[in-house]
Amino acid sequence: MNTPANGNESTVSQEILIIEDELKIARLLEEFLQAEGFSVHLHADGASAAKVALTRKPTLIILDLMLPGKDGLSVCREIRNLSNVPIIMLTARVDEIDRLLGLELGADDYICKPFSPREVVARVRTILRRTRDYQQAPDPEVLQYRHLRVYPQQFKCLAADTEVDLTPVEFRMLATLMSSPGRVYSREKLMEEAYSDYRVVSDRTIDSHIKNLRRKLTVSSDSTPDLLKSIYGVGYKLE
Ligand code: CA
Repeated sequence: MNTPANGNESTVSQEILIIEDELKIARLLEEFLQAEGFSVHLHADGASAAKVALTRKPTLIILDLMLPGKDGLSVCREIRNLSNVPIIMLTARVDEIDRLLGLELGADDYICKPFSPREVVARVRTILRRTRDYQQAPDPEVLQYRHLRVYPQQFKCLAADTEVDLTPVEFRMLATLMSSPGRVYSREKLMEEAYSDYRVVSDRTIDSHIKNLRRKLTVSSDSTPDLLKSIYGVGYKLE
């Protein structure tokens, strides 16, 4: 087996929680992630997975779809109700991908089985780098547009002074739109801002993230207007 690429010092205290009942797969990922300097915790049972995730507070979670006790979709939803921790779903079912990334689940990325451990490590790094870029913004910058306020550094969003709980993907999409109100962003551009640069998701996935975003932003402030405008055949803007 090849030696994974050199790690970097910033990963030392970061824990990756792997929720996967196939020990062979879990161990393989553990080996590669440890070689990159991450600490890894393995958990095999679905029923107690969300509790473990919320107790350990890992930096990132790799979550398998098929688990004993409780399926990965339910586990993802449970974690997402209480935490914005980045979640990468593992699935052997290509037909599940849109559902994994869209709707209410809020997974940040997915990886199809069989996969290369290197690819998983690359995805983990990309997602953590993006999260860190926001956390390490040089100024406590606030993006403000009408009743919406986004604090990239704190990963926080307020709609009419009510805090809105967004997934990392939704947050990055909103921050992108808020960085230039009125500008129309294509789905490709939003995708580029929200995901790893080398991966492609369907337009439908982007649309369902926008749909969720719209729902969250208006539910939190029902007297305020919907500012997310869809531009037919082009993309989205904030208006
Ligand atoms: Ca499994």
